[in-house]
Amino acid sequence: MPLAVALPKTAAQVREVLRVCHALQMPVVARGAGTGLSGGAMPCADGLVLSLAKLNRILELDPIACTARVEPGVRNLAVSEAAAPFGLYYAPDPSSQIACSIGGNVAENSGGVHCLKYGLTVHNVLGLRGYTIEGEEIVLGGGALDTPGLDLLALAIGSEGLLVVVTEVTLRLIPKPSVAQVVMASFDDVAKAGDAVAAIIAAGIIPAGLEMMDRKATVAVEPFVQAGYDLGAEAILLAESDGTAGEVADEVAEIERVLKAAGSTGCVVSQSEAERLRFWSGRKNAFPAAGRISPDYYCMDGTIPRKHLGRMLRAIEEMEKKYALRCMNVFHAGDGNLHPLILFDAHQEGEWDRADRFGADILALCVALGGTITGEHGVGIEKIGSMCVQFTPSEREAFFAIKRAFDADGLLNPGKAIPTLHRCAEFGRMHVHDGQLPFADLPRF
Ligand SMILES: Cc1cc2nc3c(=O)[nH]c(=O)nc-3n(C[C@H](O)[C@H](O)[C@H](O)COP(=O)(O)OP(=O)(O)OC[C@H]3O[C@@H](n4cnc5c(N)ncnc54)[C@H](O)[C@@H]3O)c2cc1C
Repeated sequence: MPLAVALPKTAAQVREVLRVCHALQMPVVARGAGTGLSGGAMPCADGLVLSLAKLNRILELDPIACTARVEPGVRNLAVSEAAAPFGLYYAPDPSSQIACSIGGNVAENSGGVHCLKYGLTVHNVLGLRGYTIEGEEIVLGGGALDTPGLDLLALAIGSEGLLVVVTEVTLRLIPKPSVAQVVMASFDDVAKAGDAVAAIIAAGIIPAGLEMMDRKATVAVEPFVQAGYDLGAEAILLAESDGTAGEVADEVAEIERVLKAAGSTGCVVSQSEAERLRFWSGRKNAFPAAGRISPDYYCMDGTIPRKHLGRMLRAIEEMEKKYALRCMNVFHAGDGNLHPLILFDAHQEGEWDRADRFGADILALCVALGGTITGEHGVGIEKIGSMCVQFTPSEREAFFAIKRAFDADGLLNPGKAIPTLHRCAEFGRMHVHDGQLPFADLPRF
């Protein structure tokens, strides 16, 4: 429970709130729609929640420059809806896009199905305005692809509300492709499906989306949304092609060829827009489907090099046995971003603790395989311990130095994203096995 909540309606009010909090030395936690999955918007008991929900206007939509200037509280999907009459859309599409805000997307550098081809939030934001905790205005980027000086725009994107409170964002819009089709491929082995992902990219194809679900995920999803998934398959891949009719026909044929060569046991190509959306609806509803089959679930988010997908899946099977918990797997496979969903029941003694350790092991393995502890959900408070596995003390100190340059008193979103030495010592005590962090003995890839 925070001390108070502020609901400003204008950027000028945001600035005043920040100035007052700075004068009072009161912590401030910016909040968008509260859909974040790493606890980044969790309030501080001695601080203020600064909700940006009422800054929800699309300020300008320029179909000639293909840009939209929006306030941070605008919902992600609302941008594409507003751009649709001009044949344009905003590409980054988190599964939460009906609810999450552009401000939250910027703070988390959010991704989605279409980010493999069109980039993450950082690749689709041209500029932003905001305020430091002192109420000093910050203007980063601009209308052009590059600006002079250090790239502070990229630094601000993904900074999890630690550096600046964003009050305006200029987004890049792109033309909506005239045709899109999805190839749904079945595999009798998850490792083969993982290898097929690498084969598609190696063939020089960058699909508009390339997602993977294991059998545990398809079995959970199918009764919920009737997506038409092959429940006999150990894993399915969804590969989308978009462009003109000719481009899509050629690419779909090439994708099918590569998938069959990689051992797919069957391919179905969507024959209508309704069928394409149906295939995606299963993937997009995987999280709520987990909620139907288990009292609780813990959604992980890590990234590994694509070539290790099969290895990671086998390791997760071992962890299921070790922790006596089930785990269903959905992936943004094209960019190696994993979302294992660990199923547990918090009312059963010890289950949450086991789920927590299971999750930490997955993230430690991501690091050992040459990946990262977050693909798109950010660090927040959830993965702050795993930051100690990913980064050395001197790297973490460099992050703190950047934080201090923007917020010398540490008032913006304190306790999130960057762990203190003390925090790392605590994490070490909880997760060290036989004197070593899990997978510390694996050669670094
Ligand atoms: C069902 C479900 C599916 C999801 N799927 C995806 C997915 O596919 N891809 C993905 O990337 N994420 C996904 N998410 C996670 C989440 O939706 C994203 O992280 C989203 O960007 C959070 O936006 P929000 O507005 O809810 O932010 P919040 O949760 O309110 O805040 C998140 C962080 O942003 C900061 N913040 C918010 N607004 C501002 C601002 N104006 N200025 C500075 N800091 C700010 C907060 O302090 C906090 O640290 C999913 C979540 C759910 C519940």
